[in-house]
Parts: sequence; C-alpha cells; structure tokens
Amino acid sequence: MRKNYLLTPGPTPLPPEVCEAQARPIIHHRTPQFQAILKEASEGMKYIFQTSHDVYILASSGTGAMEAAVVNLCSAGDTVVTVEAGKFGERWTEIAKAYGINCEVIKVEWGKAVDPKEIEKKLKANPKIKAVFTTLCETSTGVATDIEAVGKAVKDTDAVLVVDAISGLGAIDLKTDAWGCDIVVSGSQKGLMLPPGLGFISVSPKAWQKIESAKLPRYYFDLKAAKKALASTDTPFTPAITLIVALCEALKIMRQDGLEKIFARHKKMADATRAAMQALGMGLFAPTAASDVVTAVIVPAGIDGEKLVKTMRDTYGVTIAGGQAELKGKVFRFAHMGFIEEFDIIAGISCLEKVLKQMGYKFELGSGVKAAQEVFLK
Ligand SMILES: *Cc1c(COP(=O)(O)O)cnc(C)c1O
Repeated sequence: MRKNYLLTPGPTPLPPEVCEAQARPIIHHRTPQFQAILKEASEGMKYIFQTSHDVYILASSGTGAMEAAVVNLCSAGDTVVTVEAGKFGERWTEIAKAYGINCEVIKVEWGKAVDPKEIEKKLKANPKIKAVFTTLCETSTGVATDIEAVGKAVKDTDAVLVVDAISGLGAIDLKTDAWGCDIVVSGSQKGLMLPPGLGFISVSPKAWQKIESAKLPRYYFDLKAAKKALASTDTPFTPAITLIVALCEALKIMRQDGLEKIFARHKKMADATRAAMQALGMGLFAPTAASDVVTAVIVPAGIDGEKLVKTMRDTYGVTIAGGQAELKGKVFRFAHMGFIEEFDIIAGISCLEKVLKQMGYKFELGSGVKAAQEVFLK
C-alpha cells in the first residue's frame, strides 16, 4: 500500500469534487448544457483574475497561453522587454525570439525580484517598446514579483503589461484591473486545483488596441476568434469539455472560501514551511520577496539534493520538486499551493525530516514539524 502526497509546484492535488466531475459522461459542446457551463466557468474566472474583462479558456498548458499573448500582441521586428529572474522568465524571451521579436532582457539574479525602476528605465530609454513580459511567481526560484509596482511603471506608457500568473493565480493576490495588468495568463494545474490542460488569458482594452494592428501569424491561438466565439458563449474549436466541467467545481470551492481566505491560507502555509526549514537549519533560496506559492530551500552541504527528492518520492510517496537548470541539485522546492492544507504541510515536513536524518544530516528530529505547528497554532 502506498499513499501519495503531491507537494510540487504543478501539478497540484485535486479535490474529490474535481475528480468526480471528470468521471461524468461527456456532453457535446455546441449545446445549451455546455453553454451554461462555459458561462459559469468564464464568469468564475473573472472573479479569480479580479477583472471585468473577458477571460478566454484555451485547450493548452500554461505555455500555450503565453504563446497566445506573444503572437496576438506583436509583429515581427517589434521590441519588447522581458524580465528573466528564473527559468519561466526566460521562457518569455524564448517565445518572443522564436517569432522574430527583439528582446530587451532585464536579467535578475535568481532568487531576487526585479526592481520596477529597471523596467521604468527601459521604457524611458525606448518609447517604442510594445510590451513588458513579467512573471507573478517565478516558480523556479519561489520569488514573487511586485506586480502592483510594475503596473505603475508601465501604466502611463504606450507599452502593455503582460503577466505570467501560471503558478500564482488563485494562491496570491493579483488585481488584474486595479494593478494595470493588460494581459494575464495562467494554467489549470497550479493554484486552480485542476489537472493540466487548460490555459487562461485575460485581455484589457489597451491590449486589444495592440492586437488589432499586430501582424504575427496565428491560427489556433487567435484571440480575435476566441472573442467572437465567447460573445455567443462559444469557443472557436472543441474546448476541453471535461476540464471545463471540472473547473466549475473548483470555482465553486474557491468562491465558497473567497479569495481573501484563500490567500490567507497560502500565506500561513508558506510561513509554516519557511519556519520549519529554518528550524531545521536550512537556508531559504529567496529570503526576500519569497512567494506564498512555493518555497525554494538550499540543500545543506554534504546532502545529495537529487537523492533527497527521489527518496522522499520513491520510498515514502511524498513528492516535492528539485531545482531546475542552474539550481539542479542545489535547491529543493516545497510547494504549498492549491488543494493543500495544514496537515499536508506537516506530513511533507515530517517526511523531509525522516529522509534528512537517514542521509546523516544533523538536526533535532521534530524541530521542523514543531516550528510549523507553532505557526499554525497562532
Ligand atoms: C508551470 C509554469 C509555467 C509552464 O506552464 P505549463 O503549463 O507547463 O506550460 C510557466 N510559468 C510559470 C510561472 C509556471 O509556474
């Protein structure tokens, strides 16, 4: 017998209601039944995005929504700003370059957040910059960007602000309209408690203006087609029907709790996780600007980071994530997002302690769990 705990920054665990919804018989999408579901899902996503504008639901992973943002906004030869503070920021540059867009890259040391002044400087120096591509939670480092401040830097310029909120949406605050985010993209398998397979994208009136004149080739991800279809509660192609049915269940749960309570739960879990790691004598990779989504922890000297993650997963069924790219083996990432609660965190920390002890790391057994419990008791 083996019980599994999923504490990775995507996919994340599924509530039973979401699992059950996926077992229902399939229905046809060009029907009033599905239209009612699509309407409920689209309206619900406006609440999650904190926007009054339409949110389009794509059948793709999060990266598909990122690509949709790029191909709809830009023309070949445009210049954009991309912020690279980790692996996912780099993805913006990779997508833009694939389409012949010039990138003015702001490189940020991994583990730190971008200084909005850097973005302001770039925009002042080149008024032709069409868009600024940023990341709400840089999942590779655990850092959260101050999108509100970035929004202020971009708002009164001609550029649009694009935010990758794939791992932060529904876990930490992102006020799409109030903070001036023109395009926000997300995916289903992180904070939204769904399997992978849905991409989401919101578009502001300022972004629509750019889209009207943008010339990059596009077909599947043409947002004008998505807009036209949604106006009659429809989708341009066959939607991921089952996932959208499940999305309605996830949205019911999220609406019942409300965003404020959800954000508070994530903060508490993040605080408890960070307290536990520090009590165990381990350093946080991003001590400043840490997100409440995922915590990156520096693997202690003398411990094989990859073996630690593998043993927790393969021997005990507790899956956390290792480091990516330059952080491979150097950090592990403990996620506390989506359908995760206090005792999932406790289970994860106690497994981490057990394996660290077996690997010869010196610490007082139970000290991590104790520190986390103390945070939860507050
Ligand atoms: C997971 C993630 C992505 C990639 O999303 P896919 O669904 O794997 O395409 C992009 N950006 C961030 C910040 C992520 O966390």
